[in-house]
Amino acid sequence: MLDKSLTPEQQEYQQLARDFTAKHIIPVASEYDRTGDFPEFILKEVKEAGINCMAVPKEYGGPGLSSLIQSIVVEEWGYGCAGFATTLAGNGLSTYPVLIAGTDEQKKSFYPYIVNGGMGAFALTEPGAGSDAGGVATVAKREGDEYVINGTKCFCTTGSYASVFIIFASTDPSLGTKGISAFIVEREREGLTIGAVEHKLGIRSSNTVEVLLKNVRVPAAHLLGQEGDGMKIAMKTLDMARPIVGAIGVGLARRAMDECIKYVKERLDINGKPLAAHQNVQFRIADMAIQVEAARQLLRRCMSLKEAGLPYSKESAMAKTFATDTAMKVSAEAVDLMGEFGYSLDSVVEKLMRDAKVMQIYEGTNQIQRMVIAGQLLR
Ligand SMILES: Cc1cc2nc3c(=O)[nH]c(=O)nc-3n(C[C@H](O)[C@H](O)[C@H](O)COP(=O)(O)OP(=O)(O)OC[C@H]3O[C@@H](n4cnc5c(N)ncnc54)[C@H](O)[C@@H]3O)c2cc1C
Repeated sequence: MLDKSLTPEQQEYQQLARDFTAKHIIPVASEYDRTGDFPEFILKEVKEAGINCMAVPKEYGGPGLSSLIQSIVVEEWGYGCAGFATTLAGNGLSTYPVLIAGTDEQKKSFYPYIVNGGMGAFALTEPGAGSDAGGVATVAKREGDEYVINGTKCFCTTGSYASVFIIFASTDPSLGTKGISAFIVEREREGLTIGAVEHKLGIRSSNTVEVLLKNVRVPAAHLLGQEGDGMKIAMKTLDMARPIVGAIGVGLARRAMDECIKYVKERLDINGKPLAAHQNVQFRIADMAIQVEAARQLLRRCMSLKEAGLPYSKESAMAKTFATDTAMKVSAEAVDLMGEFGYSLDSVVEKLMRDAKVMQIYEGTNQIQRMVIAGQLLR
């Protein structure tokens, strides 16, 4: 059922994304999960459907969709497969720093790489800089009209396939977080290579790699904003990205609930009654539905604050945390309610449970989100 509380345009995108997911993601998701292959074909399809890099304004070749529509579309991708959704949303993530801090010239040169069917990657994390993003040890040294970048990034989504990267590096290590800067770095720059590929518990079709930077030279014009703006750009980027992860979580949780409902209506108990006839089972399904709907509404509130140009950093952290905790809880509950079948590789819900875990970790762990929320409440 489409959500009738949405505007006609929003419902149109909900339908479009639902059809897209039913056609291009659901039929192949478990095979890509099994092999761990990267679904390169999805880029062409998402571009043709007009839902690639949704935040990029029309003047730069993107669809320029509202935040709420973006979350509606991503919920549908999440319903189909969190791995595919991570790939598609990760592409969008790489467009945000340029949206936040790029000049018109940078936007005109950067966006064509991505909106025309290529991919972008966001490289902040390093072996010694995860939650503590300020620990970035990659260095960018100014030499004339260029910066020379040296360091190692890790857990970079879509790194193997990206034609352009946003790389965070310190232009002045003595300044700590205030010395971090952000750069646009094209894949073909000499000295940029891809290192180890991660083999993961879930979202196995998404590509996660190390990015090695050895004397990579970029023009000074590739610096986003000013030297030292990197941390601010990264934090604003994550504010934009976290509700999108939340939307994947809502879609995943809804799928787990739907799979579970189908099962408990068909599976008979020892007396030949469907499991769904038991009040305990009914209550557990009801609790799933409450959590899915609450997560979705938290997400929509965050998106409406963002659209209105109001502060939304706290709500972004709340939406990400609640929606991804819900994804984890509801998928684990679905495995539980579906018993041995739920635990079998033949069921969908075991994949959902594996996929859900990473959402509590990436784009800032849910503990870090709670620090952001508490920090705003207690200041
Ligand atoms: C599949 C995947 C894809 C990713 N894609 C990208 C990407 O595209 N680009 C990118 O830059 N990064 C990416 N990441 C990195 C991701 O953002 C980090 O994994 C995340 O920020 C957590 O960092 P960490 O793994 O180093 O954990 P750590 O920082 O080592 O944290 C370990 C544990 O300690 C807790 N902890 C840490 N500090 C505190 C504290 N101060 N108080 C309380 N608890 C604390 C954490 O909550 C966590 O439970 C990806 C990660 C994964 C797993």
